[in-house]
Formats: sequence, structure tokens, C-alpha cells
Amino acid sequence: MKQPNKKRKLSMDSKERLDQDGRLEQAEEEKKPKDGTTPLSHVPSAAAQGAWSWEWYLKEQKAVAAPVELFSKDQSFPEHENGFQIGMRLEGIDPRHPSVFCVLSVAEVCGYRLRLHFDGYLSCYDFWTNAGSPDIHPVGWCEKTKHELHIPKGYRKDKFVWMDYLKACKLQNAPKKLFRNRSPNGPMPKEFQVGMKLEAVDRKNPSLVCVATIADIVEDRLLVHFDNWDDSYDYWCDVNSPYVQPVGWCQENGRTLIAPQGYPDPENFSWTEYLEATQTNAVPAKVFKMRLPHGFLPNMKLEVVDKRNPRLIRVATIVDVDDQRVKVHFDGWDHKYDYWVEADSPDIHPIGWCDVTGHPLEVPQGTNDVKIPPGQAVCPTPGCRGIGHIRGPRYSGHHSAFGCPYSDMNLKKEATLHDRLKEQTQANLESDSSHSKSKNLCSLNFNGKHEKVNSQPRILGGAGAAGASPVSVHVHGVSPPFPGPSPRQGATLQAASRRG
Ligand SMILES: [Zn+2]
Repeated sequence: MKQPNKKRKLSMDSKERLDQDGRLEQAEEEKKPKDGTTPLSHVPSAAAQGAWSWEWYLKEQKAVAAPVELFSKDQSFPEHENGFQIGMRLEGIDPRHPSVFCVLSVAEVCGYRLRLHFDGYLSCYDFWTNAGSPDIHPVGWCEKTKHELHIPKGYRKDKFVWMDYLKACKLQNAPKKLFRNRSPNGPMPKEFQVGMKLEAVDRKNPSLVCVATIADIVEDRLLVHFDNWDDSYDYWCDVNSPYVQPVGWCQENGRTLIAPQGYPDPENFSWTEYLEATQTNAVPAKVFKMRLPHGFLPNMKLEVVDKRNPRLIRVATIVDVDDQRVKVHFDGWDHKYDYWVEADSPDIHPIGWCDVTGHPLEVPQGTNDVKIPPGQAVCPTPGCRGIGHIRGPRYSGHHSAFGCPYSDMNLKKEATLHDRLKEQTQANLESDSSHSKSKNLCSLNFNGKHEKVNSQPRILGGAGAAGASPVSVHVHGVSPPFPGPSPRQGATLQAASRRG
């Protein structure tokens, strides 16, 4: 585990902070970011007003900070500055489609974080990531590593050339030196190969362990794909992740293994037959190493990206833990906003992370109430300062429950954003199939024919779909194959009924 960074220093007096060389300097909370972004200072946070510090807060709450040793390299204090600038182009993974690499641009820079934009798409699909994320790569990386690049909407795949695109649009690529060299775990053991089978936890439904395939390997991470499910369930993980287990693990541990969707006799799934039918190999069991337990405990305090308003990082407390996850509570907020987050999520940080990286920290309400000028409309949600919008970065703020990411009406609509890739027209789909499973790793043929990969729309509602036509939901001509909220929940029920 990484030791605390030498730069780490908790602000004893939040008017003071460390500059890059470790010297103290006066806090310049209101200073403009160097890239010229619009600061969020229309409602200054309590932290910005110099009234709040972690030291004081921990004392007042009689609370403990989550030890910095529990945090991974991706979560802990960065070793380098964030050198990205607005407008720079790069390549990176679409968080909603982890097998898809896209043309991205830096839309906003804040501390050690970036808001990335999919070129050619609406800003409602923008997402935040850390500058040291292993999910982003310099221009040309896909070509070099033989990955398919999902090009900006409106371009033809066979005609897209990065350098022409940059030149024609007068764009700058993000210099290679800004991308950190990764592989903290050393190189991928050669026993792990693309196409091999394993058993893996469905991160969206962690009680399920399913038949899975290594769909890709990049540096020290592998892409887990669930056989015959669409790629929105895919995820990247380290080889020693507790999420991946060797073939036969479920049987040894008395767990139910979820067979591939459409498997003829799911209750009597046989790995031997399956490997033979698919002509694939299992990852050798001996190469799996179990990761130590994550070590987080209830009541520890930390700084967590608020998934409902991901430009914000809040003071948070762990209220529960399980093998792979922690349940976070945002201090000062109702418990209805609590949620589970993976212990290795890059969105959780040790206390002081915001201070060290120059990111605003949202402190608990009530510690320094913001004065609202009389007559100004304010968001009615308790605790909400009106920052952000349910429709994404197109609007920087809101004044009503309608736009509030925390209002009851919007909480019910969580994850209602349309699928970016299904926003395309049929014509685009035909000319660009990079979003569909072209690798044939999943559309396997255990009964001699290719099964249609389930591509259920993960949408419905439409509050988050600024400008997207509801018709676009069905561009595939496929109706949601399951009436319930999630096909995987259906699988849970099946598994449960089998157990019962
Ligand atoms: Zn609000």
C-alpha cells in the first residue's frame, strides 16, 4: 500500500494550503482555474469561506478518518499535477460501455479531475474522471493497440483520420506526457488471455456470479464480459480483483452460478460441456490471487464524488461495508441519499484530497449557512445549494425540484439517461458498428447458432435525455425483452427460486 503522500497535509487552517513545492500559500479559493473554466463560485461553499476544516470537524464529530493506507493509487493523493486543458482531444473508455473506446475532449478541468465530452454527442453524456485514470489514452492509442475507435458522430468510420480531424477542426491533442504510466500491479500474467472463461461477480447485482469471458486486456487490467449479455454489464478490473474467480469457484463455494443468457438448461450448466461447445479455455485456477479485504469500516470519514451530481465531492461517512463495497452517507444529508460504492472506486478519496488537489469540497450543510439574497429563487431540496442539473452540464444550476438531482421526483428517475449509442440513427449504426459486439466473444454458439445479444434499452423515462427523441430508444427494433426493471434481477429471482 502506498504511504501517505508527502504533499498530504490537512488544512489546520483552511486559509492555508500547500503549493506544488510544499510551501504554504494563502488559499485562493476564488482564483480562476488556469484553463479559464467558469468557476462554480456563484454559490461559494462553506469550505471556500474558510470556516470549515477536517481537523475541526473530526474533533467536533468525535470521528475518525479512513486511513490513507486503505486507498489505492487511483484513489489516493496524486503524484503529478493535472496538466490537461480544455479542448484537448484524447481517447478513452465510455463508462457506460466499457468495451468502447471513443474520441473525447476535455470539457472542464477542476483540481485533479476532468469532465470529458464525447465528440459529436450531447453534453448530457459528459462524465467526470481523474486525470490519472487508466481509462484514458493519448490520440493514436487505439490504432497502436489495435482497438476499435468509436469516432465522433457524423463521421464515417472508414474516412476518419485523427490528424485530419485535429487539423480541420483546429484542435489540440492531449500530449502523451499527461497520461500516467500505469501498471502498479506489474504486467498481466500471461496465463490471462482474451477469450478465456472465468466466473465473475456482476457489479450491478453483486449477489450474482456469472459465466464470463475476458473480452480485452489493457496493461494490468482485464475487461470482464458476461456471456450473452450486452456490454453495459462489462467492467475493467485488476487480475487480483475479488470480482473474478476461476471456473468451478461457485461449485466449490456452494454458490449458484448464473449460466449465460439463453443457455438451454441453465440449472444444469456444465463448464466442461460449455468450454467444449464454445471451443474456449478456462483461465487456469492457480493464477488467481485473492486481494486482501478492503479494510474500510463503518464510521470512517472520507471524501466522495456524489454520483448524482458528479462535479461535486462531499464530506462522507461509511455507514456499512460488505466484502467488496462500502455504503456511503453524505454528512448533513438524509439517509435516503446513501448508496453503495465499490471499495476500489476511483471516486472515493482520503480526507484532505480535495484540499491537496485544489478541488472544492462540499461540506455538511448547517456548518456555514449560505446567505441567499431576498427574492432569489432557491432549490427547495434541503441541503441543496442549487449546483448542477439533472440534465447534466448543459445547465450549471437549478432553482426548482424539477432540475434538482436530489428532488424526490428525480431520485425516482435515477439512471434514466438515454443510451448515447442508441441515440444514433439507423444509418449511423450501419456504417459504424463499434458499439455492437463484433468480437464474437459473447455471441457464442453453444447450441450451434448465434444467439442474439440482449440489447435491452437501459433507459425509459427520459428526463435526462436532452433533445434525444424517444423514438430513438427502439432504433434496433428490439423491445425490452424483460418486463421487469432489470433482466439481471430476473436472474436473481430465478436463482433464488432455484435455491428455494
Ligand atoms: Zn437542488
